[in-house]
Amino acid sequence: SKFRQGLTKTSQSFVGKVEALVTGRRKIDEEFYEELEEILIEADVGVMTVMELVDELRSDVKERKIENPTELRPLLSEKLVALLEDKGEKADLNVNAEGLTVLMFVGVNGVGKTTTIGKMAHKFKSEGKRVLLAAGDTFRAGAIEQLEVWGERVGVDVVRHQAGSDPAAVVFDAIQAAKSREVDVLLCDTAGRLQNKVNLMKELNKIYRVVQREVPGAPHEVLLVLDATTGQNALNQAKTFKEAAGVTGIVLTKLDGTAKGGIVIAIRHELDLPVKMVGLGEKVDDLQPFDAEEFVYALFD
Ligand code: GDP
Repeated sequence: SKFRQGLTKTSQSFVGKVEALVTGRRKIDEEFYEELEEILIEADVGVMTVMELVDELRSDVKERKIENPTELRPLLSEKLVALLEDKGEKADLNVNAEGLTVLMFVGVNGVGKTTTIGKMAHKFKSEGKRVLLAAGDTFRAGAIEQLEVWGERVGVDVVRHQAGSDPAAVVFDAIQAAKSREVDVLLCDTAGRLQNKVNLMKELNKIYRVVQREVPGAPHEVLLVLDATTGQNALNQAKTFKEAAGVTGIVLTKLDGTAKGGIVIAIRHELDLPVKMVGLGEKVDDLQPFDAEEFVYALFD
């Protein structure tokens, strides 16, 4: 599957190391655990998560009286799935069956925000929905034009103002257009400059309030787009945005470009935010819903 293909780099590196560990050692001792910790940390699972995970493994090993290292392989995948699965909440995108749905996209420049919006527009359109885009990144040079290129590519209109104008006004206009054209899904791009964090967060907040005021129940999602290849940096960005921008879920891009897909686990566990979609390439259909079991199976095959 696409999912599996996109994870080749991670699974090759991770599986190889785990395999070498469980087959190369005769017993489960301190050294074994240390090596396992190292493998997980190298895969960007995150130190805190690794510590908890290995502690749980330790007590399971004791309880179940496991002696053979190879028996730890299925136990590890079981633990990883448990870490990733949502704690009762839905990982699906929150999209209205009827009426206008507004999704906001936030994140730092270069993470793949525009590309994700383009792919998402395509996904909704192919489900038969009417889609509109709002060019809310009025700050970065070329951002509006880039969104228009995606709009043309997937056959979806873009509401835009001039570069440098007020993004909340763009989004306001886009909402009015969406209402009058009976659009199903409005996807709002936003700026991603982090140099001036306070202003950026104020700007996002202003857009948020406009959306909230104009459409009951909206925004239906605030999706934080993160670049998987930036590893622990992505985790730090997530902490910043989570507090300030009301993020409801993560889109993790460029998972195909990293051997460190373990970042998914760190995000889920350390931030308590669901990973909703993953980017597995640059093409229009390279965006897939995230599935914890599929992810872990892909890692272990
Ligand atoms: P933005 O600044 O956040 O809007 O980022 P862009 O959407 O312009 O993306 C930056 C670069 O990342 C572009 O070259 C995209 O083609 C690339 N990109 C985005 N998503 C993915 C992905 O899932 N996989 C890969 N390999 N490249 C991606």
